[in-house]
Amino acid sequence: MEKPLLKLSPSSATDFKSCPQLFKFRSIDRLEEPTSAAAARGSLVHAVLERLFSEAPEHRSPEHADELLVALWEGVRQNPEFRPDGLGLRSEEEWLGDNRTLLRNYFRLEDPRSLEASRLEWWVEYELTDMHLRGRIDRIEVQPDGSWVLTDYKTGRVPGESREYAASFGLRFYALVCWRAFQVVPAEIRLMYLSDPAILTFNPTKQMLVAFELQMQALARAIKRAVDNDDWRTRPSPFCMTCPHQTICPAWAHTTAQTPDPEARGEAAD
Ligand code: SF4
Repeated sequence: MEKPLLKLSPSSATDFKSCPQLFKFRSIDRLEEPTSAAAARGSLVHAVLERLFSEAPEHRSPEHADELLVALWEGVRQNPEFRPDGLGLRSEEEWLGDNRTLLRNYFRLEDPRSLEASRLEWWVEYELTDMHLRGRIDRIEVQPDGSWVLTDYKTGRVPGESREYAASFGLRFYALVCWRAFQVVPAEIRLMYLSDPAILTFNPTKQMLVAFELQMQALARAIKRAVDNDDWRTRPSPFCMTCPHQTICPAWAHTTAQTPDPEARGEAAD
């Protein structure tokens, strides 16, 4: 029987590129992970912005965003899927305050009353030869001339200049899916960093997307090889210190704390 196509999202693709073993833990073994403060903040702020754009334009104010934040948090605060691991009552206020700051920053970047979102949290997918690309686009605006603008909210920091291209990986991924699935090359894709705050924009062309598609096909082949051979290289890096699976990672099997096992090190295809 034929194996089902592997499913790849921007975050799982990034996992494989940064560490194939991490990809295995997350996408093949589907191991549970504690909810981090950063991940929970991202989910809550995204939910508030989605709800805000569902309201009539005149209601899209900072005060209303704050009300939505409180109401949405109240609905999920006891749910371990949404509550950061180990968040106590005292730190909860501080953590909510961080969410508020991100939302205030959002209003420094744009005025949502003047925008018409055509799609919110839009699920898109497309099949390559060995891989099913899929994911959720935060927001799409279809401009009066019919062109598309894709927006992705980021709750982390703006990447340094050398990391900008890597940071736009997710949006290039979505631009490719939009082009292949709907025959539309988005006119602009925007990464909206709520923490700094700042917007990075990117204007894809067909030529860029053809090159990106070749890159994704190579990545799909590398993942397929890893699956077929059950060969998952580790790629130790400073990120290991925050990796939720460090305690079971082969690269750290012979250590109790700081130094990865050099025997388990390996390189993976990009
Ligand atoms: S601990 Fe490091 S090497 Fe191991 S899976 Fe996590 S990121 Fe990869």
